Amino acid sequence: MLEFIQEKITKLFDRLSKRGVLSESDIDAVLKEIRIVLLEADVHYRVAKELIDNVRQKAMGEGLSRSIDPSRYLLGILKTEMINILGPAASVRIDTTGDVVMLVGLQGTGKTTTAVKLARHMKEKRGLKPYLVSLDFTRPAAQEQLAALAKANGFAMDEGTSDRGHEGLKDLRLSSARRGCDFIVVDTAGRLHVDGELMDELRRTKDALRPSATILVIDSMMGHDVLKVAESFMSGVGYDGAIFTKFEGDSRGGAVISFRKTMGRPIFFVGTGEAVSAIEPFDPERLVARVIGSGDMAGLVEKLSEAVAGDGMEQAKRIAKGRFTFQDFIKQMRMIKRLGSVESLFGMLPGASRLKGIARSEDVRSDLKRYEAIINSMTNRERDDPDILNGRRKQRIAKGSGTRVEDVNRLIKRFYETQRMMDIIKKTGIKGIQKYIQ
Ligand code: GDP
Ligand code: MG
Repeated sequence: MLEFIQEKITKLFDRLSKRGVLSESDIDAVLKEIRIVLLEADVHYRVAKELIDNVRQKAMGEGLSRSIDPSRYLLGILKTEMINILGPAASVRIDTTGDVVMLVGLQGTGKTTTAVKLARHMKEKRGLKPYLVSLDFTRPAAQEQLAALAKANGFAMDEGTSDRGHEGLKDLRLSSARRGCDFIVVDTAGRLHVDGELMDELRRTKDALRPSATILVIDSMMGHDVLKVAESFMSGVGYDGAIFTKFEGDSRGGAVISFRKTMGRPIFFVGTGEAVSAIEPFDPERLVARVIGSGDMAGLVEKLSEAVAGDGMEQAKRIAKGRFTFQDFIKQMRMIKRLGSVESLFGMLPGASRLKGIARSEDVRSDLKRYEAIINSMTNRERDDPDILNGRRKQRIAKGSGTRVEDVNRLIKRFYETQRMMDIIKKTGIKGIQKYIQ
C-alpha cells in the first residue's frame, strides 16, 4: 500500500541527503517534485497543494537552517503534515449494544466481504456477537454470498429479510437479540455507478434503521473517482466514515489522503485482502511511518550485499528475474544461518510487520538438515515446479528422505511463504540490491 509514494519519496530524499545544506531554491525544487509524486499517486490537486504549502511554510522557518541533517528535517516536516491531514485514528461508534452499523457503497467495492470482516473484527476485539443482515435484493446470489460467509465464520444471519418492508426493519434489533446477538451489520445493495434511485432507497433504509454508524465502503483502486463517489453518497445518504478496501494492491493510495481532507470524515479500516481476517484499523501514524521514515533502506542494502556475496549472487539474480525455486530456498536458508537474525534483516523493510511467516534463524538451524534431505529427494522437475507435488509424490519424497509427509508439507508451506515474501520485496522496490547483482 502506498508503495508508489514511498518509493518515489525515498529516492527523492536519498538524493537530497547527499547535500549538506539546503537553500531555499533546493527546498522549492524538492517540494515541487513531492507535489508531482502526490498527484501521480492520485492525491487531489487541492489537497496536494495544501500539504505542500504547509510543508514549505514550516521548512522556511529557522529549524531547517539550524539542523545538522536538513533533508531528514524536511522529511520529518512532511511526515508530520501528512499525519495531520490524515487526522487521528478513529473507531466505529457503537452507541449501545444491539446497535446497527450499515454499509453502503458501489457494487463490487467489497461491502459484503467487509460486512463479515467487520463482524469478525468486532467479535475478536470488542467481544461483540454479530448478527449479519443482507438488504441486497438486486441479485439472489448477493444474499447467498453473505449467508455462505456468515456460515463459514459461525455468525448468525438474519433470515427472511427479503420480505421485510422498511417498517419491518425496525424489528431487526429484536430478531438479533432473540438470537443472543448484540452487534448488527447491515449489508446493502450497490450499483455500478451512482444513481438517484439507489440513494433514495438507501436513505429510506437508513431512516428506518437509525444505525449508530453508516460506513461508506470504497475501492482504493478507484483513484480520482473516489471523491465524486464520496460526495454523492454524502449528499444522498450521509455517512460517518469510510472503509477503503483492496488497499493491499498496487494502489497508489492517494485517495485516502484526499478523502480524509476533503470529506472531513475518518477512515475506520482498510481491507487488505480477500480473506475475512484481512482488515486493519486505519492508523495514520503507522501508515505514514511506513511510507516515509521507518524503512532503513541503506542498512538493508548493506546487509543484503554481505549476504549475496558468493553463492547468493546467483540466487539474487534469479529472484530479481522472478523465479524462486527450491534450490534458491535451500541456499537462502544457508545464507540466513550465516547472517544471524533474519528478523533484524527484514525488520528494516517498510511494511515488514506484514511479512508473517518469515523464517526465524533458530528454526532455520534446526530445520535446515531435514529440509535439505527432503529437497535432495525431489526430482529436478519437482524442485523447479512445486505445484506438481501431489500426495503420491510427497509420500515418495518423505520415504526417500527419512522424514514424514507432514515435514514435506511444512517445507512446501514455508517455501510458498518465502516465495510470497520475495514477491513483496520485489514490489516494495529495493532497487538497491540490483546494484549488487548486475
Ligand atoms: P460488494 O459488491 O460491494 O458486496 O463487493 P464484494 O464483497 O462482493 O467484493 C467484491 C470483490 O472484491 C470480491 O471478489 C472480494 O473478494 C473482493 N474484495 C473485497 N475486499 C477486498 C480487499 O480488501 N482486498 C482484495 N484484494 N479484495 C477484496
Ligand atoms: Mg454485495
